Amino acid sequence: MAPSHALRCCKRALNWIPVLFINLVVGWSYYAYVVELCVYTIPNNAERISYLVIFHISLIMFIWSYWKTIWFRPASPSKMFGLPRAEKELFEREERAEVQQEVLKKVVRNLPVYTRTAGGAVRYCDPCQVIKPDRCHHCSTCEICVLKMDHHCPWVNNCVGFSNYKFFILFLGYASLYCAVLCATVVQYFIKFWTNELADTPAKFHILFLFFVAALFFISILSLLGYHLWLVGKNRTTIEAFRAPVFSNGPDKNGFSLGFSRNMAEVFGDQAKYWFVPVFSSLGDGQSFLTRLIHVDPEQTNSVLQQNGKSTAEGETDTSVLSNSIQHTVDNSKGKIDGGQTVSVTMESEP
Ligand SMILES: [Zn+2]
Ligand SMILES: [Zn+2]
Repeated sequence: MAPSHALRCCKRALNWIPVLFINLVVGWSYYAYVVELCVYTIPNNAERISYLVIFHISLIMFIWSYWKTIWFRPASPSKMFGLPRAEKELFEREERAEVQQEVLKKVVRNLPVYTRTAGGAVRYCDPCQVIKPDRCHHCSTCEICVLKMDHHCPWVNNCVGFSNYKFFILFLGYASLYCAVLCATVVQYFIKFWTNELADTPAKFHILFLFFVAALFFISILSLLGYHLWLVGKNRTTIEAFRAPVFSNGPDKNGFSLGFSRNMAEVFGDQAKYWFVPVFSSLGDGQSFLTRLIHVDPEQTNSVLQQNGKSTAEGETDTSVLSNSIQHTVDNSKGKIDGGQTVSVTMESEP
C-alpha cells in the first residue's frame, strides 16, 4: 500500500471519531435513562411508561434525522457544468489565465450561473473540472464540489449542502428535543440527588450526569439551531453569511432571498406533511436558483428562458421545473447597464 494511500485511509478513519463520540454519548444516555432512571429509580409504573414512550419517540426522530444527515451523499454538479470537449482541450492547452477565462465565459453563457468570484471571474473548480453552479463550493475534506454547500460538519463526517440540509436542521431540532425531554423528566430526580432523597446506588450518579450532559448539549445545539433557522429564513448558507455571493452587479448577501415563506419552502418543501419528517422535500435541483435581481447579458437570458420556458409554453404547471427555473421578466425601463440588461425576478419582496 502506497504511503499516501495509507495516510488517506488513516485520515478517513480519524474523521469518524466525532461521530463515534456522539454515538457513545447517546448510547450511555439510553442506558442511564432507561435502566438507571426508569427501571431502578422511578417507583410509579404510569410515570415510567409515559416517560419511556416520550423518550423513545424523540430518540427515534433524532437518530433517524442524524442517520440521514450522515449517509445522504452531498450532491455534485451534473455533467452539464463540465466543459465540452473542444473547450476543455483549449482550456487545458492555454496557460494565460485571461484566455482561459474567455473560454469559461463562452461556456457559462449557456448555463444558469449568475455568481462570479470577487474579481468577476467565472467560478471554476480545477480538481473537479467543472464550472461551479451558483452556491456550489469545493469541499477539501470530501474532495468534491458540493451543491449549495453550507459547511463540512465533523459531527456527521459529511458535507452539509443542498441534498441533506433539511436533514441537518431536523437533526438539530430533534437533538434539542431529545435533550429537552431528558432535562424535563430528569430534573425532579436531579433535585432529589441534592436533597439526599435518592437511594445510595450508582443510579444517582447516572441521573446527576444525565441532567448535566443533556442541559449542556441542549444549550449548545439550540443556539446552533436558532442560527441555522435564521439562515433558512434569509435563504443564506453559512458560507454566504460570511462571504456574500458576488453577482454581476456586485456582492449581495440577500441575492437568493425570496421572502421568508418562500425561503423556508426552499429547504422544507411546500407540503406541510413533510416538514418535520426526515425525507427529502427541498425544492429545486440545487444547481440553479431564483435570484431577486440579476444582471445578465441578453444572450444568456434567452438561453435560460428557452431552457425553462417549455412548461409555460405548453400551458403546464410543473412545480419542480418552476422551482428550478429562473423566472425572469425583462425590465426594459431600466435599459442597459454595463453592456448587459437588467433582469428582475417576479417574487415577493424581502422584508
Ligand atoms: Zn470541486
Ligand atoms: Zn465535505
